[in-house]
Amino acid sequence: MSVAVTIESIEKRFDAFAALRGVSLDIQPAELVALLGPSGSGKTTLLRLIAGLEQADRGRVLFGETDMRDLSLRDRRIGFVFQHYALFRTMTVGENVAFGLKSRPRAERPDPAEIRKRVGDLLELVQLPGLDKRYPSQLSGGQRQRVALARALAIEPRVLLLDEPFGALDAKVRKDLRAWLRDLHRRTGHTTVFVTHDQEEALELADRVAILNDGRIEQVGSADDVYDHPATPFVCEFLGEVNKLPVKVVGSQAFFGDRPVLGGLSQNQGGQAALYVRPQHLRIVDDLPLALPGVVEHLRRNGPLRRAEVAVQGLAKRLDVDLASQVAPAIGERIRLRITHGSLFAAA
Ligand code: ATP
Repeated sequence: MSVAVTIESIEKRFDAFAALRGVSLDIQPAELVALLGPSGSGKTTLLRLIAGLEQADRGRVLFGETDMRDLSLRDRRIGFVFQHYALFRTMTVGENVAFGLKSRPRAERPDPAEIRKRVGDLLELVQLPGLDKRYPSQLSGGQRQRVALARALAIEPRVLLLDEPFGALDAKVRKDLRAWLRDLHRRTGHTTVFVTHDQEEALELADRVAILNDGRIEQVGSADDVYDHPATPFVCEFLGEVNKLPVKVVGSQAFFGDRPVLGGLSQNQGGQAALYVRPQHLRIVDDLPLALPGVVEHLRRNGPLRRAEVAVQGLAKRLDVDLASQVAPAIGERIRLRITHGSLFAAA
């Protein structure tokens, strides 16, 4: 039922403004891909192009082997939930969910008893059991989004397109629905494209994440790929907090000043570079090679973790260090830090 979606060299302008500048992406059948990026990066435009709601200036979108422009609306079989998706106000929740099923050609249309059962099952699935008689105006914004999701799922879509579908929900419901969608996807296997600007949501939910910036895809990969091996400084910074150190690469080592701070490098990019290190990848160690001396200047809480801010001679900005299970140092204490993982980029 689910289908591969191939996006080939898409360009899209709105007047003089280039919203998408050569975007290509292969989505496998039954894959869940998140389009992640800051506001204005082109996520919604790309999703609307996949849905056939926008026309590309260049490039094309294939469903399987077929250019989607050659498919009838019915054969595209797209389920979509957009950020501000309006339900039919004059229809009850049940009628809204049943709408896609009732609109099918007679030969494919389930009988009324089957439709009732499917609507009941879908409302159960989106955790709104028994609300089928209500009208959209009698629901919260979050409940409406879940009805929209049930309605999109009712037609058993070949491709499911979701644009920030949980944006309106409070944090707890949002997290529950995320796990629920992941589970639902595992069971139903719809090819799904999910737009979000929430890094955590994308990394937790998606098989692969495509990171957009300024109308281009900067990197596509699994959560581990993009988080631990960012292809660009933008991806690294967008996905989470990071410290930056100017270094010089000589052979397989990176030097901060004349001190080696990271070894085992495979890159052959000798010379000046920027080393990006996440706060959880700095460990307090005893006097060992590849350690960076510093002084603890500040201690604070950062969510569930404690965070030390460490001043290092020759570095204008203090290093942020997560103290997961590490013994907290005292303010003013001299410590040594080992970099356990870092990403090297050409010096800006
Ligand atoms: P957000 O997270 O804020 O929804 P986004 O990444 O989804 O952002 P898009 O909605 O795809 O971004 O917009 C990309 C760019 O294209 C933006 O600069 C936007 O202003 C512009 N744009 C989108 N639609 C139109 C339009 N119909 N006319 C003119 N410009 C548009």
